[in-house]
This record gives sequence, structure tokens and C-alpha cells, in this order.
Amino acid sequence: ALEAREVRHGFGNQTVLHGVSLAVQPGEVVAVSGPSGSGKSTLLHLLGGLDTPQGGEVWWAGERVDTLNTQARARRRAGRVGLVFQHHYLLEDLSVLDNVRVPALLSGDGGEERARGLLERVGLADRGRDLPGVLSGGERQRVALARALVTRPAVVLADEPTGSLDRANADRVAELLLGLAREEGSGVLLVTHDERQAGRADRALHLLDGRIGEEQEELGHPAS
Ligand code: ATP
Ligand code: MG
Repeated sequence: ALEAREVRHGFGNQTVLHGVSLAVQPGEVVAVSGPSGSGKSTLLHLLGGLDTPQGGEVWWAGERVDTLNTQARARRRAGRVGLVFQHHYLLEDLSVLDNVRVPALLSGDGGEERARGLLERVGLADRGRDLPGVLSGGERQRVALARALVTRPAVVLADEPTGSLDRANADRVAELLLGLAREEGSGVLLVTHDERQAGRADRALHLLDGRIGEEQEELGHPAS
């Protein structure tokens, strides 16, 4: 449903991605790990259509989108891709409820009921009128989760969504992300350093030297 084909990208004279191909299907959870600076966030930006790759192709639901302009891509995003970042980009002047509605508004669907339902699911039913500034880090990340899911995306791209949280909050947000995605039938591409989170994925990929590979299966399990 969401696909990168031989994606190449870099900055200045530094090449970060040397031809990365991957696909995430609805309902599938794929973890991505890799050293700091290996290009995980760059890859997610390209997959999410926030940036245009220098080479290769990005496809959403059978449509090539890297050749579209930014505006057309933003309109196509609804129902296809949801985005959650490590540093929550909530709009500080909008209420919590309106933040959750933003992706739905772009697609021309008000989404108010859906947004209220999602806020309830992430445990923030009574915070809809608050401004993001009064929320805790974990609460802000739960708002970002609700926002990512509001258009019922086929795949959610999550870039270390729990990276700025303490362990208890990280567990709660990860639990919500994977649980809600499963209920909604959305796929998840999760960048994480947390081995416990990666261990819950259907597949684990590793980004190294600009190339992506399947994580090696652990060897040496005793035969039983
Ligand atoms: P981390 O685990 O620390 O988040 P990452 O794997 O997400 O790292 P990226 O943020 O994708 O890594 O960065 C990959 C490389 O590209 C780094 O060397 C970074 O400095 C460079 N880079 C990323 N974005 C830009 C930019 N907008 N301009 C210039 N260089 C950039
Ligand atoms: Mg990153």
C-alpha cells in the first residue's frame, strides 16, 4: 500500500539513501532501526511525501506520488498516510480537538465526530478544548497519535514517537499506537531504538550505510 522503490536522497554532497526499497501493507507493523544519522527520518519524510526524493519513486495505494507537487500530495495524503513525529508538531494556537481534525479538514471532511472518538480512545476525551501548551509530553504524543489516525490512513509512519517520553509513558503510547492501528487495520512503519517495541513488529528492517536490510533472525535458538 505504501512503497519506496530505489529511493535515493542526500543533502549537499552527502548521499544519505543509496536506493532504498520497501513496502508496508495495511495491517502490517514494520520496525526500522539504524544508527543516528543513518537516514531514518529522511526516509520517513520521503515516504510521507513531505520531501521529494532525488531519485527513485514513492507510491501510495497504487499511485506514484513523488512526481506530484506538494499541494497535490497533501490532498492525496488523507486516508493513505498518517504521520507521527518524535517532536510533536502540534499547532499551539489550535485546541487539542482542532489539532486532531487538521488532516481531515485538508481532505474536505470535517471529521469532528471521528476526532472526538479518537480523543476518547487515547484517554483525552475531556481535553479537547485545551491548548496543547498545557498538556504533558505523553498527552501531546497521544494527541499526535489521534491526529495521525483521523483520516483512517492505510499506513501510519511513526518516527520515534516515544523517544522523548519516560518508560511508562513510552509504553503507553506504543501500546496505543499498535493497538489502535490493529483495530483500524492500518499498517505501521515504526522507527524505534526500543528493542521491545521492535520485537512486537511483524518485520524488522535495519538502515545502514544508506541501504536497508531485513534484521537477521537470531540464531542459536535451542531446538525444541
Ligand atoms: P536519528 O536517529 O539521530 O534521528 P536519522 O537516522 O533519523 O538519525 P536523519 O535525520 O535522516 O538521520 O539524517 C541523515 C543524515 O542527513 C544526517 O547526516 C543529517 O545530518 C543529514 N540531514 C538530514 N536532514 C538534513 C537537512 N535538511 N539538511 C542537511 N542535512 C540533513
Ligand atoms: Mg531521526
